[in-house]
Amino acid sequence: MLPDLERLIQLQDIESKAAVAAKAIAEAPGRIAALDALLKAATTALETAKHALAENKTRRGLIDKDLASAQQRQDKYKDQVMAVKTNEQLHAMQHQIKAVADEIGVHEEKVLVNMMEADEINATIKQAEAALKAAQAKVGTERSAIEADVIVQQGVVTECAAARTSLIATLDDKGLVDTFARIVKVRGTAVARAEGERCTVCQVRLRPAVFVNVLKNDQIVQCDSCNRILYFIAPKPAEPASAQS
Ligand SMILES: [Zn+2]
Repeated sequence: MLPDLERLIQLQDIESKAAVAAKAIAEAPGRIAALDALLKAATTALETAKHALAENKTRRGLIDKDLASAQQRQDKYKDQVMAVKTNEQLHAMQHQIKAVADEIGVHEEKVLVNMMEADEINATIKQAEAALKAAQAKVGTERSAIEADVIVQQGVVTECAAARTSLIATLDDKGLVDTFARIVKVRGTAVARAEGERCTVCQVRLRPAVFVNVLKNDQIVQCDSCNRILYFIAPKPAEPASAQS
């Protein structure tokens, strides 16, 4: 194979490896932001539940106050009923006692509803606390993994840059660097394997005269369609047929 062609294939490997590493580095902040959002959502859910509990307690305080007030009135009416002198006064007092008893019933019902609500909120808080704990563990682990990976990928990028520099220095035709870069800019990759008279990347059929040159691997041939630099590697012979019937 033409040494420069072999070098360009290696250069493509380096560029592809560097691109994967650069992508991982570029995606890291977004992945960390997503973890932060997860943590924030879990924190907010717990805060919301705790706030709901505080409101529940406030409501309970008001209900208890109303209940105590009604009970005081009830006690007062019971004292007063002993002192009534006429049937008319007795009926009036009984009416008031009935009304305050109904009111107490309403307040007691509200206390029950409030207590059930408190039970539900406490269960929600427990769930939210567990979810927050799980989120903290997950975020801690994954954030560390992403940060560690970024350091590894930065190393890969640095290695690739060094490998690229030394490889380019060995090119016999330095003009190929620009050709390579131009194709990469448009196509993402600059080198393509040819097989069965086709460019395996753009799948366009090569003219027979072009393919014949590609088969030789002794010159730089570009795909007519995508411009990628073509090379040929003979397909591996098929696996020998299994002895089993
Ligand atoms: Zn092509």
